[in-house]
Amino acid sequence: MSHEIRTPMNAILGMTELTLLTQLDEEQQDYLETVKEAGQNLLAVIDDILDFSKIEARQLVLEHIDFNLKEILESTIKMLTIGASKKGLDLKWQICSDVPLVLKGDPARLKQIIINLVGNAIKFTPAGEITVEVKRSDMNNPGEPGRVSLLFFVQDTGIGIPRDKQQVIFESFSQADSSTTRRYGGTGLGLAICKQLVELMGGTILMKSTEGKGSVFYFTADFQPGDPQAAQFAGKGRFDRSPDRTIKYLAG
Ligand code: ADP
Repeated sequence: MSHEIRTPMNAILGMTELTLLTQLDEEQQDYLETVKEAGQNLLAVIDDILDFSKIEARQLVLEHIDFNLKEILESTIKMLTIGASKKGLDLKWQICSDVPLVLKGDPARLKQIIINLVGNAIKFTPAGEITVEVKRSDMNNPGEPGRVSLLFFVQDTGIGIPRDKQQVIFESFSQADSSTTRRYGGTGLGLAICKQLVELMGGTILMKSTEGKGSVFYFTADFQPGDPQAAQFAGKGRFDRSPDRTIKYLAG
């Protein structure tokens, strides 16, 4: 099903991109840019709905591969920095020095959670900064052999979430207030997907927020120690390590 929906959508987007490279007058260019933007938004909504249905149907199986946490976080933040800079927001990240960087787990799904949380932080923060932090978690059975439990924080200085809405935002299709979709777009599925993915990773997601001051979303997730050689091989060519990055790696 996912293939049947995504393939024509990607064809529409691809052909729009190609047409944009041809000789067009200003009006045509403008119309096509709108088609492209609407297509990209629709694809994001389709992806959310497909993911959500897959999780609901208990058909989403996590991968179990070796990866380097620093590379994953670095490439994810780098991608998100573009959106943050457009709004004049500072996006910082740090991995505490006691966190093992080579892990075994599902890096693509971890990335998806971080993109959702940081994407929301950017969307709902008019000024200030967003910080992503990773620590070792001692919340579940510290020191259990063969398990690395991590704690991720995504903090912003944004609009915050009213106290009475803080519980419902993790439910599917829910947004903090009815004007949110009008002002910021979105489906209200992002956090429901994050919650389900975090739970599949053996963790919990929580948040604290003060209206007008900002929010912090934090989650735990379990991994296993990874094989450095396999992680290096898995990462080869997949992550862009351009030196002009505007993000900071602060690990001790
Ligand atoms: P979407 O962003 O697509 O609406 P989400 O499930 O990701 O859906 O978020 C649900 C709602 O939670 C948002 O519509 C918004 O009202 C609120 N929200 C999420 N993250 C933040 C944040 N960092 N700051 C303020 N509100 C947030």
